[in-house]
Order: sequence, then C-alpha cells, then structure tokens
Amino acid sequence: MNSDKNMFKNRNFSGKKVLVYSLGIEGQDLARWFMRHGAEVTASDTRTEQQLQSAGAYIPEGISQVFQGQPLIAPDGFDLVATSQSILTTNKAIVRAKKINVPVVSQMQLALEICDADVIGITGSNGKSTTTALAGFAADAANIKTLTGGNLGGTLLERIEKLKKPAKAFLEISHTQLQYIKSSPHIVGITNITANHLDQFSWEDYVALKISILKNQKSKDIAILNKDDLVTWKNKGTVKGNIHTTSLNEPITGNGSWIENKKIFARFNGEAESIVDLSEIKLKGRHNLANALMATSLAYSAQIPKEAIQNALSNFPGLPHRLETVGTTKGAPWINDSIATTPERTIAALNSFTKPIILLLGGRGKNLPLKDLREQISKRCTSVICFGEIGKDFAQELKNVVPIEIVSTLEEAVAKASQVVLANELILLAPAANSFDAYPNFEIRGEHYRQLVTDLNDFIPWSENGVSDGN
Ligand code: ADP
Repeated sequence: MNSDKNMFKNRNFSGKKVLVYSLGIEGQDLARWFMRHGAEVTASDTRTEQQLQSAGAYIPEGISQVFQGQPLIAPDGFDLVATSQSILTTNKAIVRAKKINVPVVSQMQLALEICDADVIGITGSNGKSTTTALAGFAADAANIKTLTGGNLGGTLLERIEKLKKPAKAFLEISHTQLQYIKSSPHIVGITNITANHLDQFSWEDYVALKISILKNQKSKDIAILNKDDLVTWKNKGTVKGNIHTTSLNEPITGNGSWIENKKIFARFNGEAESIVDLSEIKLKGRHNLANALMATSLAYSAQIPKEAIQNALSNFPGLPHRLETVGTTKGAPWINDSIATTPERTIAALNSFTKPIILLLGGRGKNLPLKDLREQISKRCTSVICFGEIGKDFAQELKNVVPIEIVSTLEEAVAKASQVVLANELILLAPAANSFDAYPNFEIRGEHYRQLVTDLNDFIPWSENGVSDGN
C-alpha cells in the first residue's frame, strides 16, 4: 500500500484497515470517505463520549471500533492513518506511524489528491475565510461550478471528488492543515503572516508552515502575495512560479491588485483595469479591502470574468461572526466579531468603525503581546468590559488606559454594556482571546452573544432600523 502512489486516485480500500484520529468535522469526513471506498475504519479520539457530544461531534455509522477518552491508540497493525489537522505532527501517534512506515493522510491532502478541478489555495494568519468566500462568490456569480471550503468547515471530500474541470475549488488552508500537505495548489494566495498560535508553535515554525504552501508549486503556477505584509514579502524569494502582488498602499506595476483614486484596480497579463469603486464594496473595514484585493487577484488568476468579480465585490455581505451587526439598543449598534481571537484582530475590528466603542474583551488567552492593542484601545474605546478566564489579566494590562469593568461571563458583559451604552456609541465583541474557556468554538460564542443581545428589552433587529453602524 505504501508504494502505491495512486492509492487515493484508485479509491479501492476494500480489505484495508484505516485508523482515523479525532472525530471532529475532518475526522468524520475522513471516516465516511474511507468507509464509502471499502475500508474498515477504526477511530481514536482523546475526548470522552460526553466531551464529543458537547463539541457537536458524532460517530459516523459503520465505524468498526471507537476508542475514546484515552490517548490516541498506536497505528501498529493498520494500513493507513487518516488524521484531522488538530493532531499535530509532533504527536506520539503520528511520530510512531512515520517510524513504522504507516502512511498518514489528512483531509486536506486527500482533497488535493482526489480533486480533478482547478484548486485555488488560500492561507495566511487573518482574512482567509473572508477572502476564500469572496473569491468563491465571484466564481458563483460567473455561473461556474464552484466549491468553497477547507478550513471554512463542513464536509469536503464527497463534494470535491465530484468536481471536474472547469469547476473551481477555492480552499482555505490553515497552518495546521499545511503540516500534512505534500502538494501545492497551482494558484495560491497568502493574505498575511502575523503572530498567532504561539502557544502551539514557535514563530519560526509557524512562518515556515505558512510559506510551505508554496513549496511544491511549479514554474507556471501563480503565488499572490500581500506586499504590505512584511513577513510575507520577505519570503517572496521562495516563490517558484509567477508572483502577483496586492497592496493597499501603492500601485502595482506587474500583475496584481491595488487601490488608486478610491477604486480597486487589477492587472492580469495586460493593461490595468478599474474593477470597482470603494464606495460600492459592502464589507466593512480597511482589513477587508486587503481581503478584497487578494480575492480580486485570486479570481482573476482563476479566469473568472471581470463582471463577476465586480458583482461579487459589490454584493458580498461578509461571513457571520465577522464584524456582523446584530441590531441596536438605544440607537447604539451591537457588533459580533467573535472570530477576533487575537489582539491583532481586535485592532482590525477597532479600526473598522468611527463611533466611540465599548469593547467586550475576554475568553481564554493565547499568550500574545498586547502593547499595540492597548494603544488602539486608548484611542478608540470609551470603556472595556473584561470577561472570562483571562478577563482579570486583560484588566490588569489595561489599567490606567480606559475605564474597565471586570465580570465573569459574556452574559454579564452584555448586561453591563446595555446599562451603560450611550446612543452615539457602539458595542463590539472582539474578544482578543479564544472561546475555549466557556464555548466549544467561536461560532457558538458568537451565536450566544447574538442571542443575549436579541433578548435585551429595547433591542431592534438590524434589518428594521436604518441607523448607521459607524462604519
Ligand atoms: P481567518 O479565516 O484567517 O480566521 P476571517 O476572514 O475569518 O479570517 O476574519 C477573521 C477576523 O480577522 C476578522 O473579523 C478581522 O478581525 C480579522 N481580519 C480579517 N482579515 C484581515 C486582514 N486582512 N488583516 C488583518 N486582520 C484581518
């Protein structure tokens, strides 16, 4: 089996014993795919049944054996390990598989192996999902058969194996997915590389993982790099194919996308073309203009017609939990940016509005520097309400910067903010920490926030009021 280079293309796993590590979205997708193609699947997850249930994970029907609530079982005696990205390559079980020559495949690598459509891969520290969804939205607008997925969540394997050229697959690829990737998409976009996940990786290893998306590109392939991001740009020497460039700050002379005279311009092997007026773009915030530039160049490189790109930039509403306006109380908008799990993302959110901000900050910390956030908070916020496991530490860091309240939960933070908010302000959940102290993920935290806000006495849904959200 190890020597069969085409084992995934051939899709014949009958009689083969496959061991799946972790039963989250990716593990379930892998288990189902291998069972569909004849394998006998065993699964191993460190979480107990109750923990799996509360994380919304379930065990796909047909798995022959499940080991849960114990360390990952060893791969000895199996033909193949299929792993979720959540298992790091340093995990004892993966190290053992390599030692005894049991092949290891991840959901993303398998997706790349079995996909017959054009793959466009997007990575970076921030803006991956928005950029991927926006570029996919443009392909949809052109009536091209399109898959948008990967780290965005959801099943991938069944959807991707049905695609044939000229269909396009826009795949968001995270750094942990990159750990397992042995091939590179022909078109790659890197949004930016900034400090994140330093609780799991050293900075050098994290940067190397992000850049590794380019490793197996060929001379005719395209890498789209954000020139405004120092770390990405410093690594441009690793590109093997054609570099396309994006910049918010300066016009691009070669292929790429940029802003000039309050318009997005792009060039793809020809004259510069004006794509869309900035005033027509629905997404909020300067950081989203950077994502719009990246999505424009990705879509152009994937041969999406200009009209469809224009249409997408003017109509894409953004993804949930990313600067999402929930509604108002007393005329003040409540914004859900639950995905802002790092100080840097919180800064991006703070910079997206002009109104004075009451900021809700807290959750589980990731050991990231707070200096820049402190400075931005002093400029943009009237007060900060700290909650969750790291609430007290945040409060300590911010003392003497702005008025601070410390509460235990998000529920109390919302109640407090609703008491003190003034009509000219806005309330922003951009917590600069992950959700794992109280929620399985940022989506569930964002949904809870939405619910808490919607339940406030004087709440008016966004769709029913014409108040500006201070964008
Ligand atoms: P990702 O998929 O990389 O997590 P998203 O598109 O989901 O990124 O955006 C998540 C959050 O990251 C946004 O709400 C915003 O706070 C921040 N963000 C998005 N794009 C950028 C960018 N280009 N530069 C800096 N921060 C960004």
